[in-house]
Amino acid sequence: MPPKKMKVGVIGGGLMGMALAYRVSELEASVKVFESDSQLGGLSTHHNYGDFTWDKFYHVIVPTDGSLINLMNDIDLGESLNWSRSFTGYYVNKSFHSLNSPKEFLLFPLLNIWDKIRLVFTIFYGGRISNWKKLEKITVKEWLIRMGGKKNFSKFWEPLLLAKLGENYKRVSGVFIWTYIRRLFKAREHPVEKDYMGYVSGGYKTVFDRLENLLVKNNSSVLLNTAVTSIKPLEGGGIEVAYGDKVEYFDKVVFTAPVNVLEQVAAPELCEIVKNNQPIEYLGVVCLVLVTKKPLTPFYVLNMGDVNTPFTGVIGMSSLVDSSETAGKYMTYFPKYISKDHPYWNTSDEAIEDLFMTGVRDLYPEFNDDDLVSAHINRAFKVQPLQVLNYSNIVPKIKTKHPDFFVLNTSQFVSDSVNNNFVVTHVNSFMKQFATALETKTSTNTD
Ligand SMILES: Cc1cc2nc3c(=O)[nH]c(=O)nc-3n(C[C@H](O)[C@H](O)[C@H](O)COP(=O)(O)OP(=O)(O)OC[C@H]3O[C@@H](n4cnc5c(N)ncnc54)[C@H](O)[C@@H]3O)c2cc1C
Repeated sequence: MPPKKMKVGVIGGGLMGMALAYRVSELEASVKVFESDSQLGGLSTHHNYGDFTWDKFYHVIVPTDGSLINLMNDIDLGESLNWSRSFTGYYVNKSFHSLNSPKEFLLFPLLNIWDKIRLVFTIFYGGRISNWKKLEKITVKEWLIRMGGKKNFSKFWEPLLLAKLGENYKRVSGVFIWTYIRRLFKAREHPVEKDYMGYVSGGYKTVFDRLENLLVKNNSSVLLNTAVTSIKPLEGGGIEVAYGDKVEYFDKVVFTAPVNVLEQVAAPELCEIVKNNQPIEYLGVVCLVLVTKKPLTPFYVLNMGDVNTPFTGVIGMSSLVDSSETAGKYMTYFPKYISKDHPYWNTSDEAIEDLFMTGVRDLYPEFNDDDLVSAHINRAFKVQPLQVLNYSNIVPKIKTKHPDFFVLNTSQFVSDSVNNNFVVTHVNSFMKQFATALETKTSTNTD
């Protein structure tokens, strides 16, 4: 194969970086992906659970994740998608409530009929709002109370917000729940597949293995264990990327890692990072994962309305994933979303496991220690950019001050929730806008 015309560097080997690298490698360009970790995947990476490998953090695909499903089809993994009925539960006032059909909704004991009418109105009206900018100016709590009242907020919405953001929900704008309602609302327009959720056989490892193979086929490559330490403009065009004691030169570079890394590594001439003196704040996650001999919960998601529980939700992965994928065992994730100054970052895994296990035993008194196969504590520091009030005013732009340097990361999701479908949607829209720029040289430095 003749050498390709353009050299493109991609920083970050999460789904954003890898999906982008794959699309760019289909152009007249050879791509090199830099990933600081020892394996690809970022937040969607895998973990060794003993007898099997599965996602480090829980991931599902919903039937309306069109961009993600199209990517799976493009890389010939459409046949590896599996769909199962999913169930949602609420744990409020020390009891479990299933909320999966109109009948269960009508019987949900914590809300009266008037509250339920207001709740349906909130979802219906919220799903039809098109001007999300207005919602950026009001906190999610204020907006939901204004729409549906205090009781709906404390019994229905607050458990859901706590599960996703912990106590930090108090600082996010109405856009956060609007993106959620829109996704929920859209799902209702697909009656056949309603309430089904999907996963890829072998978990996201299958996806990253496939993307890496395709990159190699397209004259491109991945460098693992390679933290980029500096990115600078070259005189006369092009970009210099430094890592370890090496430097490499590229015609174009796209940065996909979190904003705090951008701040550390990008030369100030490349882009403006902190806007209005307001740095972008991310929530991290600390998650207990239990591998057990028996299933723990029938729900895929259990939203917790009890703020005293050490975790903010329960994800019954094995309520969806066939046990043949997990060596006949069952997996349950117990996440807690926390801010960067939370004491859990300085707490040992053993201490967190003890604390979370107390919560597990409180929630499931019938839990028998003999059924426990293994427990794992998984952490990630930069997960969910906090969509605070007027968030869209502070995010970094894709097109930077330099024509050869681009930023594409989840901090730019101003009106989308952070999930892999929107990651692929943003990659697709980046390609639509900038594919020509990626194929147009401004320099002769890397010839
Ligand atoms: C608990 C949890 C549950 C989730 N559930 C779902 C779900 O059900 N469905 C769904 O669709 N999505 C889900 N997600 C979201 C999904 O994981 C993210 O949308 C996605 O992984 C974001 O990908 P990314 O590539 O933008 O970022 P990341 O995955 O964060 O990738 C960034 C990469 O950059 C690398 N990097 C950082 N610094 C450097 C450096 N200096 N040099 C080189 N590389 C560097 C990092 O190691 C990382 O691999 C979940 C996430 C979490 C944490």
